[in-house]
Amino acid sequence: MIIPKSNRLTDPQVAELTAIVSEFGCNLQPIIGAVRTIYAILGDERDDLMINRIEGLEYVDRVDRIQSGFKLMDRRSDLASHRVNIGGVTLGEELFIIAGQCTIDPKNSNYFYESAEAVKEAGGHVIRGGVWKPRTNPYSFQGDVKSLDILMEASRRTGLPVDAEVMDEEHLKMALDAGVHMLQIGARNALNYSLLRSIGKAIADTDTVVLLKRSIHMGPIDEFVAAAEYIVSFGNPNVLLCPRGTKPGLDGYRNHPDESITPLLKEKSWAPVVVDPSHSVGRAVYVPACSMAAIAYGADGLCIESHVEPAKGIGDDPKQALTPEALAQTIKQGKALWQLMRG
Ligand code: PEP
Ligand code: MN
Repeated sequence: MIIPKSNRLTDPQVAELTAIVSEFGCNLQPIIGAVRTIYAILGDERDDLMINRIEGLEYVDRVDRIQSGFKLMDRRSDLASHRVNIGGVTLGEELFIIAGQCTIDPKNSNYFYESAEAVKEAGGHVIRGGVWKPRTNPYSFQGDVKSLDILMEASRRTGLPVDAEVMDEEHLKMALDAGVHMLQIGARNALNYSLLRSIGKAIADTDTVVLLKRSIHMGPIDEFVAAAEYIVSFGNPNVLLCPRGTKPGLDGYRNHPDESITPLLKEKSWAPVVVDPSHSVGRAVYVPACSMAAIAYGADGLCIESHVEPAKGIGDDPKQALTPEALAQTIKQGKALWQLMRG
């Protein structure tokens, strides 16, 4: 990874570096951070001659040679100073909240608009809403593209950014064309490397944020962080890591709660951690406690399913969604705990 002296290299400087690394069979990839741009060498960067030639350039401060399967996501990377911003909040500066329905009901859009208003009132930063749904049962409702318009209308009405899961390239294109601000990669696709690559390429020059869930079957920490590297390696470092519980589940919970991996993720990576307590425990009554546990473990934020009238929801909402009152209370307590932990 090349760290320049200035915040950004000029085009001729980039051309010179590109020529050098390509002589050694590598490619140069700019990674545009909030403060400065760094330049990843993709390929085998261990050739001393190549490093010496780069370090000899007067506009290069240094070359970091992190030996890691995820050298951009690694906490020793220069990207560690990158801050992810969305919805007027900088991750790490206050408790970050994504909330909203599991699934948008295309036949009852008013529920979604009301749920979205409730998220805003409770102090949420991003509204989530499932347009396309990965369902275990192939005969369950699989989502409806009409919900994409409802999602974007909720964004216009509230002024908040929105998050939706994309499961394939067709969804990705439709979501980006519609202006979805945060793309969610679900637990079932968390290791779909060709989808991760497509998303990385599609958002390379944008400020789109990705919420990457942990893979469903106890995905190891390194594997989780390396999956994020697939996206970031195309140039957009706005990735959030989202533990969401793993299989096999703990008797009584939907999954095995895994907010406790937060400090382990933070030891390995600079990426913000946003825990999803809803899919983890799978019952609304347990979600507040799981949320507090996540904050106690050092999470930067939460992704919570909420619905203005959970019993009228579809998808996971009747079981998992918090009411507006419970959401507001959880956010209030979460913020207090956040302050306590950092004060
Ligand atoms: C969801 O967020 O509604 C969802 C399906 O999540 P996961 O991929 O974690 O199961
Ligand atoms: Mn859900």
